Amino acid sequence: MDMKDIVIIGGGPAGLAAGLYAARAALDTVLLEQGTPGGQAAGTERIENYPGFEEGIGGPELTRRMEAQAKRFGLNVVNTSVQRLLRMDNGFAVRTADGEIHTRAVIMASGTQPGKLGIKGEAEFHGLGVSFCATCDGAFFKGRSVAVIGGGDAAVEEAIFLTRFAEKVYIIHRRGELRATKVLQERAKRNPKIEFIWHSVLMEILGAYFVEGILVKNVQSGTTEELKVDGVFLYVGTRPNTGLVAGLVELDEQGYVITGENMATSCPGLFAAGDVRRKLLRQVVTAVADGATAAVAAEKYLETLHTKI
Ligand code: NAP
Repeated sequence: MDMKDIVIIGGGPAGLAAGLYAARAALDTVLLEQGTPGGQAAGTERIENYPGFEEGIGGPELTRRMEAQAKRFGLNVVNTSVQRLLRMDNGFAVRTADGEIHTRAVIMASGTQPGKLGIKGEAEFHGLGVSFCATCDGAFFKGRSVAVIGGGDAAVEEAIFLTRFAEKVYIIHRRGELRATKVLQERAKRNPKIEFIWHSVLMEILGAYFVEGILVKNVQSGTTEELKVDGVFLYVGTRPNTGLVAGLVELDEQGYVITGENMATSCPGLFAAGDVRRKLLRQVVTAVADGATAAVAAEKYLETLHTKI
């Protein structure tokens, strides 16, 4: 069977940057992406902190350009889902929905997925008022009331975005202080459509066929109240997509892949880049840096294999 140099799993900014560097290094590389390339960044309406775009740039536009740039240098992007990753004597077998690929090195750039609360109504009303993507679903809430759960960058940024459509946006946060960066905090606090509900957690999402309201508990007073909303947007953190490498590489206590500064994991030939790895800052700017580093580190790893032959 044909043996690839590198298989990149995931087509967000980390995977696309890895693909760009690997393609420019003339390595036989394939990038596997189960959805549309761009990752979570492609679902972000505007990215303001990626250097080089003083007015910001739309997430779809930025990631489309990343993909086009990598393809211009010959990156092969294949739309398929990876089902298993197996270690072999001379590399890895990557089982996909469309067949098996053998490769000497792998770059895991599989990112994260939205965290869930596991409360009543969350799964039942998914797509019926419960959403994890304001950019995708915000426009359905024109003139309505919505609740955003969480206090991180994602929650606050998306709450501000939702004020374009919704009449009222509640930000419900379990503490009295936001985790989000200061510039977003100030913007949200100045927005007349946003109301903060502090020290509060979501207990249940209510409705018959669609979301009609929520039960919110104040964790300080212990009281629970019902709030009428038409939509609930959940931004309570993220979980790493590491199912494929569990058992192959060392993970931290939250399930993120542990790498060294060159993106090498505990498994030789297997590198990780972007949000899936343990790191301080999960943003596009660090994802692309990880991807570039992982590709160069993989190239050096492949050279050591050649010297062994
Ligand atoms: P995050 O930074 O981990 O924030 C998650 C928020 O959800 C926190 O406020 C947390 O509360 C809250 N939360 C977690 N579990 C909860 C629970 N069970 N019940 C209620 N609330 C809960 O996650 P994120 O906002 O999705 O961001 C993920 C990463 O992407 C971060 O590194 C972030 O910086 C990055 N990001 C950046 C931007 C940007 O730069 N503009 C935009 C989006 C995302 P506590 O604060 O109390 O822990």
